[in-house]
Amino acid sequence: EGRLVVAARVAPLGADHVLLLVEDRSKAARVEEIRRDFLANVSHELKTPVGGISLLAEAIVDAHDDPEAVERFARRISVESTRLTRLVKEIVELSRLQGADVIKDPTLIDVGACAQDAVERSRLLAEEHRIELVTAVEEGCEVWGDAELVTTAVSNLVGNAVAYSENDTRVGVTVRRGRPGLVDVSVTDQGLGIAPDEQERIFERFYRVDSARSRATGGTGLGLAIVKHVADNHGGHVSVWSEQGRGSTFTIELPAANASAPIEPARSAEP
Ligand code: ADP
Repeated sequence: EGRLVVAARVAPLGADHVLLLVEDRSKAARVEEIRRDFLANVSHELKTPVGGISLLAEAIVDAHDDPEAVERFARRISVESTRLTRLVKEIVELSRLQGADVIKDPTLIDVGACAQDAVERSRLLAEEHRIELVTAVEEGCEVWGDAELVTTAVSNLVGNAVAYSENDTRVGVTVRRGRPGLVDVSVTDQGLGIAPDEQERIFERFYRVDSARSRATGGTGLGLAIVKHVADNHGGHVSVWSEQGRGSTFTIELPAANASAPIEPARSAEP
């Protein structure tokens, strides 16, 4: 898969032998490429709110004798700053997740409790849009992992479900034992839906189907990339089912705790 990158070294070994060391550097090269692309994306994404704030500040200076305009510009500075803060937080979160393959020091977590916390985080926004949040949580759905990360992942899905739905609709969050050995968290909305050819791409960082709508909802384009990394790092998977105009269901599947042991460093056998 991808390019093969090798590093080779030759060292003399005695009078008539040489040692040829060939190292596969493909993974390191791919990681470096991802890091470089990410940095390029990040600087591009940061320029927009920073540029906006600086233009608005100049506009305030020019409009000093028009208090109404000053207030309007100041409010927009505040909105852009909030977005910038969220963007920086998510960039840090994503780069931390990208740098690790698994969760460090996993603990036994109750996915139902994580989902309930996540729903609470979106409650105010949902109420503003008269969107009903309906939860159905099965008891004892435990996995090994990081509770804060799982809560963040579910919260990103619920936040999106609310953001990409019309007023007076319903968002459902269910946690249940899914296929054998798995715990499923599903978030279903009756919103815009996502076209089939966009469904793969939405998990890429900074990818948005409609940038204007994403921006209007304070989106950063990182939410689903974070969800995907959280699922992957827990040994799980995220998928989407969607139909345009009908809605979407995002499902995170995680290995159930009773079916898997925590990932522990290898220990030598006791004498
Ligand atoms: P954003 O911050 O833009 O919401 P995400 O990574 O969370 O970024 O999502 C990427 C894109 O996927 C969004 O911009 C939106 O176009 C689309 N999307 C995500 N969730 C939904 C949903 N529940 N319904 C419709 N479109 C969605």
